Amino acid sequence: MRASVLFAPRTPLKVEELELEPPRTGEVRVRMVASGVCHSCLHAADGSWQNVPMPIVLGDEGAGVVDAVGPGVQTLKPGDHVILSWAPTCGRCHYCVIGRPNLCEQRRPGQGVLLDGTTRLSRDGRPVYQYGHVATYASTTVVAESSAIAIDPEMPLDRAALIGCSVMTGVGAVINTAAVSPGASIAVFGVGGVGLNVVQGGALVAALPIIAVDIVRARLEHARALGATHAIDASKDDPVTEIRRITRRGADFTFVAVGDARAVGQAVDALAPGGTCVVIGVPATGVTTPLDVRPVVTGERVIRGSSYGSARTREDLPRLVALYRSGRLKIDELITRRYGLDDANEAFRALAAGELSRGLIVF
Ligand SMILES: [Zn+2]
Ligand SMILES: [Zn+2]
Repeated sequence: MRASVLFAPRTPLKVEELELEPPRTGEVRVRMVASGVCHSCLHAADGSWQNVPMPIVLGDEGAGVVDAVGPGVQTLKPGDHVILSWAPTCGRCHYCVIGRPNLCEQRRPGQGVLLDGTTRLSRDGRPVYQYGHVATYASTTVVAESSAIAIDPEMPLDRAALIGCSVMTGVGAVINTAAVSPGASIAVFGVGGVGLNVVQGGALVAALPIIAVDIVRARLEHARALGATHAIDASKDDPVTEIRRITRRGADFTFVAVGDARAVGQAVDALAPGGTCVVIGVPATGVTTPLDVRPVVTGERVIRGSSYGSARTREDLPRLVALYRSGRLKIDELITRRYGLDDANEAFRALAAGELSRGLIVF
């Protein structure tokens, strides 16, 4: 199989022929159809996230077709269309049992391996790591059964790919993590691939107003097209002042969809009493931010993280597919450009330059 491999931070990805071991017990092999180009992979490649094992095949967002299953696999068979999930679930640990499977204790975040601690990819007999338990920048990959969620075969797989990370993360932050009610005010800091999905999650649940904050005018216009009622250009105006002017008492919910500590500070300052700041973007390793504690206490404000939109993947990914197929969820509009596997470096450049809502690698 062919894959785009990162050998060291701040070096170009290289397309290589790799060996792929067949699926072991509880694993499936997936022929990839499309893979989204996610900011988290850019962070791994540009060195801002440390301790990423290498060489590694990046890619945490994709969809494809099951072409082989290992022993003991019960829910999938060859030919099934699947969305890949970077958060496999065991179904038995504390978090799986209490309904928070995105925090499953069997996951191995950042280790570049599958649930048994090893990788199925190798090159000249040496292991090649698999980003996010999946490694989607590959023509074929092997993943845990619970990392491959079967979907309606009528769903176009290139559009389905985006549901695997950016759509789930953004929409899920609104409907699962924050459980925003109709008429609640929200402000979204950073309207790139994930933030645009926070905006459309807000539109789905009839949040009002939906305020987009960014420094790129084109992204703000895109956010308006997906349901934002207001747009604040943070390169010109102070977002906290503007959000307070629009909402009067502050926002009921703020979402930070950019890995930037300063935006977290602003998003907390922009909260109404009783409001919740949901932090989605993961900053560089070791980044901290000062916190004015008093208004958090006196106004009972909440700061909480949201990982993968608090996904319950088996329930949520097919639900998002159904919302797309009914016309309620926009995905075509999120795809800025399509690339071949050989163009992953160009896709990273365009993503870093702020040119992409989502780039899509098509196999
Ligand atoms: Zn991602
Ligand atoms: Zn679990």
